[in-house]
This record gives sequence, structure tokens and C-alpha cells, in this order.
Amino acid sequence: MSPISRLPSVPGHPFIAYQGDALQVEGVPLSRLAQAHGTPLFVYSKAAMLDALGAYQRGFAGRHAQICYAMKANSSLGVLQVFAQAGCGFDIVSGGELERVVAAGGDAAKVIFSGVGKSRAEMAQALSAGIGCFNVESETELDVLSAVALGMGLTAPVSIRVNPNVDPKTHPYISTGLKGNKFGVAHEDALRIYQHAASLKGLRVIGIDCHIGSQITTTEPYLDAMDRVLELITSIEAAGIPIAHIDFGGGLGIDYGNDEKGATPPQADALWQQLLAKIDAKGFAHKKLMIEPGRSLVGNAGVCVTEVLYLKPGEQKNFCIIDAAMNDLPRPAMYQAFHAIVPLSITAKPQATYDVVGPVCESGDWIGRDRALNVAAGDFMAVLSAGAYCMSMASNYNTRGRAAEVLVDGDTAHVIRQRETAQDQMRGEQLV
Ligand SMILES: *Cc1c(COP(=O)(O)O)cnc(C)c1O
Repeated sequence: MSPISRLPSVPGHPFIAYQGDALQVEGVPLSRLAQAHGTPLFVYSKAAMLDALGAYQRGFAGRHAQICYAMKANSSLGVLQVFAQAGCGFDIVSGGELERVVAAGGDAAKVIFSGVGKSRAEMAQALSAGIGCFNVESETELDVLSAVALGMGLTAPVSIRVNPNVDPKTHPYISTGLKGNKFGVAHEDALRIYQHAASLKGLRVIGIDCHIGSQITTTEPYLDAMDRVLELITSIEAAGIPIAHIDFGGGLGIDYGNDEKGATPPQADALWQQLLAKIDAKGFAHKKLMIEPGRSLVGNAGVCVTEVLYLKPGEQKNFCIIDAAMNDLPRPAMYQAFHAIVPLSITAKPQATYDVVGPVCESGDWIGRDRALNVAAGDFMAVLSAGAYCMSMASNYNTRGRAAEVLVDGDTAHVIRQRETAQDQMRGEQLV
């Protein structure tokens, strides 16, 4: 048996693989990066991001379409720069994210602004920057946005987020298109709310949007949601309000390598073939298409490299204590999410089953449970599928500095974020 076949597979990570005994991202061995930059360390593959983007670009070939990267998945400037240079727009959810887009060289005209709680100041900031569209999530928000725009002598381009009320069959915390969710407006109220929007002087209705959830691994919820949205467009246009673009949100899942729950998500291009057929059948082939993928563009482009600090055998459980924790990798603590964990180098060490945990003082601080690992203290491991919703959700809990980040491009490794120091964390604080 070859050593590699003993390891958990690295599904969906085409640019992260073992070369001989050593795990590499593109042409760069991860152990070299761990030694040079310390751990925990996030490492991303530029080629993997562009490859994931390519699946969407293929899906939309020959169409009037705009891909807006949902940057809350990973908002590091070096990551945004990759997508800006590839022609992407951005889906933002705060004024801070807009500042990041500008700092990374992104085009404000290709920005869409989502979220249920935009403040007046954020609306004004986005209007001054000249963003492409506001995705409005409530009737009151329409009134406020119209007033803010009129006060600036502008009109705000809007689409309304409608709630298609389909079950995306994902974790309840990341399902967003159901009636009980805080997002969007109800399908049955949408026409009336569109008519209200069209009557407001400070607004210019340009599109419709929906986003049904995240980590969606089957095609059906998308197909159902598209049917619901297309029905609505027909009735909104019949009421005399033209809809120039359809924004279909994000949410496509990635393969986390979790065999038990292992539904393999559809490929973006295959999914869009089916969705485009529905759009064309309704006679809407000329409409501009917008999408807001986040996780599926970056999730499997990144890993988090960590060092094994201690092995702690116990009566009921063995613990493998690593130097990455819930402040770096919050998904297991937040959603009981699964990340595959693999060694950086293949060795013949004895195998045992461990709960992999971090140093934070919480029992919720676990990264993986019941994992068979061949490791010793001092070894490096990689937590896979760590490109999305890890660094962007990282915190300073326990006064832990946020990790450094490296972007690999072929044989070159660029540091895109320095490790945060305690001084960095205390900046802005003062004694009484
Ligand atoms: C989070 C979010 C996305 C991206 O979701 P992914 O699951 O990361 O693709 C897209 N649109 C909106 C409005 C979001 O809130």
C-alpha cells in the first residue's frame, strides 16, 4: 500500500497534494512555510481560487453575467486582489468590506451591497463610492435608502431580495431562504414591495435577487428557487416594472471530505447549465445574470498549518493539542462543522485516535473529533478546507493574535498578512 492511500483523501483540493512524503500547495512544501513563518498559518493557492472561479466563468460563457465574490468568506486583501484582477465584482455586507474592496483595487461599480441591517452612514458611503446595486432586504430599508439618496441628490440602484421559501437542506444557522429567516422579503409580498420601490423617487429598480443558504450540496433547492424567482419576474414585469438583472446569490457547497455526510456538491458549470435552461425557457435569456459565490471560490483553496503541541492520553479520550484553536478555525465550535486534518509529512509513527483540540479555555474548542492520526509532539498538520469562513471569522479570544497568511502562486509564496502581535491587539485601548 502506498503511503498516500493511507491518508484521508484530499477531495476537491486539486492544487494541494503530497509530493513524495511532503504536503505541498502548488510548488511549495508546507513544512518550509511553517518553519519560515510559524504556526498557525493559513496558506492559500491562487491557482485553486482561479480554478474555482473558472467553473463559474465556463458556466456563463457567452452570457451577460457578473460574478460578485461574496467576500465575507475570506476578506483578506491579497485574496480580494486575486478576484479583482480576474474581473470579479464583490458582494459586500458592510461599509468596512467596501473599504477593503477599494484598498484591494476592486471596482466599486461591480459591488453589490447585501445585508438586513445597512446603516444610513453605510448607505451614504456606498452611494458616494458609486456601487452597482443595493440588495434591499425589507420595505423600511427601501424608504430609508430612498431618503438617503435624495438627500445626496442621487438615485440608488436597487434589487429586492426575495425569499423563495425553499429548504436548502443545510445547517439551520446557514439556511437563509426559509420563511422563518431574518433575510429578504416574503415571496407573496414581493410584488407589492416592488410597486412601492418603483414609486420612491430616490430609487431605481434594476434587479431581483435571492440567496437561499450556504454549503448547499444538492441541485434541487436551486432549481426550485429559480422557478419561484422566474415566476415573480413575470408578475413584476406585468405590473410595468422592468427587471434588468437576476442575482441568484451564492451558497454552493464544497467537499469537506466528510465521508459520513459526504454529499458531493454539484459543479458550478453543470449547475448553471440547468439553471440557464430554466431562464431561457421563460424567455429571459437577454437578462444580465449576477451571482454571489463565497465558499465555493475559496474554501478548498486554503489550509491552516498547525503544530502538535502535546499528545495527552486519557481514559476515555486521547487529546491531540494543537496550536490552532477555535479563534482561528471557528466553524467546528459554531456549526459542529467538519474539517479534514492531515499530517504535513508521511511517517511511520504509531496510529491512535484523538480529539484534536486547541489551547483556548472552552470545551467547545475542538477542531476534529475521533481522528486516527500518526503524529508526535512537534509535528505539523494541515487542517483542510480552511479558505472560507475561517480567517474572516477569526477572533482574538484568549488574547490570541490572528494567524499569518501566505498566498502561493506557483513556486512563489507571498505573505499577505503578518501574524498579529499583542501590541496590535491592544492598539486603541487605554488605561483609565
Ligand atoms: C454569505 C452570502 C453569500 C455567499 O454564500 P456562500 O455560501 O459563501 O457562497 C452570498 N450572498 C449573500 C447575500 C450572503 O449573505
